[in-house]
Amino acid sequence: MREITREAHSCWHQAVVLYTKPFNTFIVIYKSLLNSTHLYIHLLNYFILMQLTNDGDLHNIVLNAPIGICILDAATLVSEIVNDKFLEVAGKPYDAIAGKFYWDSFAEARCYYEAALNSVVEDGKPYYANEVELMLIRHGKEEMVFVTFVYSPIKNKKGKVTKVAVWVLENTMQVVARKKIEAAEQQARESLKTVRNMVLQAPVAMCLLIGPNHTVEVANELMIEIWGKKGVAITGKPMFEFLPEAEEQGFYQLLGSVYKTGETFHANELPIDLVRHDRVESLYLDFVYEAYKGADDTILGVFVVATNVTEQLLARRKLEENTIELQAINEEVVATNEELAAVNEELAFANVELAEAQARITRNERLFRSIAVNMPNSVVIVIDKNHRYVIVEGDLMDKLGYDRRDYEGKHPTEIGQTERYEASKHLYDRMMAGEKFSVERKAATGENYIVHFVPLKNEHNEVDAGLVMVIDITDIKQAEEKSAKLAAIVESSDDAIVSKTLESVITSWNDAAERMFGYTAGEIIGETIYKLIPPERQDEEPQILARLKTGERVEHFETQRLTKDGRLLDVSLTISPIKDKQGNIIGLSKIARDITEKKLDEARKNDFIGMVSHELKTPLTSLNAIVQVVNAKLKNSEDAFLAVAMERANMQVKRMTAMINGFLNISRLEAGKIHVKKEPFNLGHLLHEIVDETRLIASSHAISLVENGTVEINADRDKISSVISNLISNAVKYSPNGKRIEIKYHNRGDDVVVSVKDEGFGITPSDVDKIFDRYYRVETNDTMHISGFGIGLYLSAEIIKRHDGEIWAESERGKGSIFYFSLPLSS
Ligand code: ADP
Repeated sequence: MREITREAHSCWHQAVVLYTKPFNTFIVIYKSLLNSTHLYIHLLNYFILMQLTNDGDLHNIVLNAPIGICILDAATLVSEIVNDKFLEVAGKPYDAIAGKFYWDSFAEARCYYEAALNSVVEDGKPYYANEVELMLIRHGKEEMVFVTFVYSPIKNKKGKVTKVAVWVLENTMQVVARKKIEAAEQQARESLKTVRNMVLQAPVAMCLLIGPNHTVEVANELMIEIWGKKGVAITGKPMFEFLPEAEEQGFYQLLGSVYKTGETFHANELPIDLVRHDRVESLYLDFVYEAYKGADDTILGVFVVATNVTEQLLARRKLEENTIELQAINEEVVATNEELAAVNEELAFANVELAEAQARITRNERLFRSIAVNMPNSVVIVIDKNHRYVIVEGDLMDKLGYDRRDYEGKHPTEIGQTERYEASKHLYDRMMAGEKFSVERKAATGENYIVHFVPLKNEHNEVDAGLVMVIDITDIKQAEEKSAKLAAIVESSDDAIVSKTLESVITSWNDAAERMFGYTAGEIIGETIYKLIPPERQDEEPQILARLKTGERVEHFETQRLTKDGRLLDVSLTISPIKDKQGNIIGLSKIARDITEKKLDEARKNDFIGMVSHELKTPLTSLNAIVQVVNAKLKNSEDAFLAVAMERANMQVKRMTAMINGFLNISRLEAGKIHVKKEPFNLGHLLHEIVDETRLIASSHAISLVENGTVEINADRDKISSVISNLISNAVKYSPNGKRIEIKYHNRGDDVVVSVKDEGFGITPSDVDKIFDRYYRVETNDTMHISGFGIGLYLSAEIIKRHDGEIWAESERGKGSIFYFSLPLSS
């Protein structure tokens, strides 16, 4: 029983239950023990022998036994008891067995087992046939079955075999199943073998893990290498036993899930830390977990196929890093390139600067040469320390017929100038010693030269070249001589000759000036010219200056100047601008002539004219009265000659009257005796009157008045009348007969302008301003036969001036003139 109990413990999950009636108890017999027929039979035999004493009980046990039992009479081998189970196994009806000679019932097996049965009877030892294959005729058909049977002797108390119990159990199903299993197992073993071989020979790391613990069935070298477990006994061991670190990293679950679900798991570049050869190493694996299934598709284990991609990955990482590095390098390269570009730019810039510098040098050299070439009347020579010509330039070269190319780079002695060189050598030496000096030379041909010797220093302040500048100063010398002569003339002149700046500062003063004004040159040079101008005439100077600044000369300007001792001198000034070569006015020269004497003469002449005019006026008035009376009387006379003669006499008397009035007016004017008596009158009416009157005496010209409304002015009617008459009579006088004369007046708001236009001879521009001067007359072929004294315009100008008006003329020679005067309207 101990044995049974032990067996039962290990396989308790499958059992059959036997009910033992005598003990009224169940006996549990484990199914798996059914194969262990010996035990089973022992057990039954035990029951039979030990417990069951009567046939009835035996009978019942047999009938109810879960295995086939047939009790034979030992002597006859006739079946006494047979249970259903036996019949079932035998495949025969009850009648074919019960009460029958056993071998009749099983003729098909007699030859195999008769002897055995007989020996049981004889020897009293049971015969066991375990899972024997037997051909049975069951239900009339031959059937191959597997049975386990026992011929078990049942002995009486004396030990004699009285009965034989045939215990039979059909195992066909089990055997077939087992055989199948065995075959399958065999097959599995075979396939496992194949699998093992496959695994071992796989070119990739591979292993087969069996069961839920993932026991290593087989693992190839590559796999062991990945695990780092070379030389470690791993076959038959659960994987995580020797790879606990992998378990921790989740591989247990992975494997477990594949084992459970059968679903293949792929992983790429899965990182795993493994203790390989006692060192933790990080690996990257590509691997596949695939279920390993048995013949019936049950999952037996898991294939692991792994590829160590660590190196590739690291290589790739490296590559990526390298790529990144490369990118970084690229960036650096780009940056470097940029820098390089910048440097290049700088370089280019430097080059440009260099080029510019070179260009500058070239330009400078060219400039230097150009300066040298263009320096008038000169030769510029640069020599080096050894007196070799470096540069020879200048217009004198050309003048003298030398070519600089003969000189440059050569020593004077190499070009046949030994003699001249010997003469100049000591001068070159002086220059090279650092002395700067000049010498003057007069050539045999008469030219004067000045030679400047200039030492040229380098950046170390050492003289390493010399500049020899030869300048032809013949002209300057001559000019100097000329100006010396001129100075002598100026000095010996009787007229005061004074020069001054545009700011009126006296710069030169000749002897005559000293004699005239009393100041010595030393006293007056540097002083202002205003010192010589009387206070009431101080504004003359700016006017003169203004005229001179336009380049005009002021000639015979009669005025008064002060002497050192306060006397007033009548002087005639001729002032001309002093210009430089470019024509810029840089100063003024003033020639003053003392005309005090001349003035006195004039005054005496004026007095005389005044006196004579005055004296003439009385008889002329009488004459005029007589002519008038005679004229009136002759009006109805038949003597035409007398009438005409008297008319002419009348005209001549009028002219003479006008002339004498003029002279008288002049003397009055100069004596300050002319007075303006202003009264309001209509200018248009006055013009009308005068025009009408003139038409009477000057029918030779077409005189017209352009009416232009009423202009009331406040002026001296007689004097304005004489101005207008004078302008009209001049227009008549200085234009050929038949020409038109046009008189206009125009109200400009502030003033009124009267103009008298003729188509006469005209006046040249240089004379236009002078015609208003006293006694000024224009002497041309056209006018030389026209009588006059040059006082009409002078008087007119004086009258207009006294009315605060202006008088001027516009004229073109040969075309005619327009005389204008303006009078303010406010006064
Ligand atoms: P006179 O006519 O007596 O010479 P004026 O003072 O009237 O004196 O004139 C001065 C000079 O001006 C004249 O000699 C003449 O040369 C010139 N002149 C004056 N009026 C005219 C004119 N309308 N056309 C041309 N020349 C004139």
